[in-house]
Amino acid sequence: MEWTAEAQETIRKVPFFVRKRVRARVEKEAAAEGKQLVTLAEVRATQARYLSNMETDIKGYQIETCFGTGGCPNRAVISGDMVERIQSFMAEQNLLDFLKQRVPEGLKYHHEFRIAVADCPNACSQPQIRDIGIIGVCSPAVTSEPCSACNACVDTCKEDAIQLEEGCPAITKSCIQCGQCISVCPTGTLDKGAVGYRILLGGKLGRHPRLGEELPGIYDEDSVISIIRDCLSLYKQHCRHGERFAEVIQSLKAENPSALPDIIRLPQKVQAL
Ligand code: SF4
Ligand code: SF4
Ligand code: SF4
Repeated sequence: MEWTAEAQETIRKVPFFVRKRVRARVEKEAAAEGKQLVTLAEVRATQARYLSNMETDIKGYQIETCFGTGGCPNRAVISGDMVERIQSFMAEQNLLDFLKQRVPEGLKYHHEFRIAVADCPNACSQPQIRDIGIIGVCSPAVTSEPCSACNACVDTCKEDAIQLEEGCPAITKSCIQCGQCISVCPTGTLDKGAVGYRILLGGKLGRHPRLGEELPGIYDEDSVISIIRDCLSLYKQHCRHGERFAEVIQSLKAENPSALPDIIRLPQKVQAL
C-alpha cells in the first residue's frame, strides 16, 4: 500500500520495537476502509486505537525472525523448523498469565520475553538486544579438493578473512562464519564445516541498554531448544516484578550464582558442536 511522505515520517517516530506491528495494523485498517493510500489521518487513528488497546495486544512473548527467511541469499542456516519448535514451546509457557501476576499494575510491551532468530551473522532481527538472541552460522572447512586459485572466495569475503597461501585457502580469526565463501567456490575446496547457532543471552534496550552475552560455541537445534528451556525456567523462577531476563541473570550472578544453570554460570564448560 502506498504511504504519503508525512505518514511515513510519522511512523518512523514510533518506537522501533512496535513499529512493524503498528505499520501492519495501519495498512490493515486502512484497507478495511477501502483506502489505497495511507495518510497522516490513518496513522493517527490507528495509533490511538493501538495504544489504548496495548494490554490486550500483549501476549507475553515475541519471537522475531529475519525479514528474508523465505529466500534471503545470505542465509547461513534455514531456521524455519527450529523457529516452529520455539514457537510451540513458548506458547506452552503461558507467559501472559505469568507476567500479569508479576506486573499487576499493567503490562507494557517491554515486559514481554523476546527471542530473535537470525539466519546469518548480518543479524537483521537484532538478536543482540533480545532476551535470547540466536544467530545462524556456517563455518567454511578446507577440503582436499584442489584449489584453482580463482580468488572468488577472497573477493566475496567482506571480512578479509581468507588468504590464499601457496594455492590453498587459509581462514583467519576474522571469519564470522557467514558461509558466503562456500557458495562461490567452484571446486569444492571450501565446504560446510560446523553449521549451527550462536546464542546470546540478556540483551535489551531501554534505560539501561545492554548487548546479550554470547555463550561459547555453536549449537545444534536440539541444544538451542534445551538452552531456551533452561532460560525460561530460570526466568520464571526468579523474575519477581516483570524485570528483563538480563536483570534476572545479573542479580543472580551477584547474589546467588549457584542458582544459575551451568550453561550460564560456567560457560567455558559448555560443549559446542
Ligand atoms: S539476517 Fe541474514 S538471512 Fe536474515 S534477512 Fe538478514 S541478511 Fe538475510
Ligand atoms: S565464512 Fe564469511 S567471513 Fe568467513 S571466510 Fe567465508 S566469507 Fe569470510
Ligand atoms: S573460491 Fe575455491 S577455488 Fe577459488 S580460490 Fe577460493 S578456495 Fe580456491
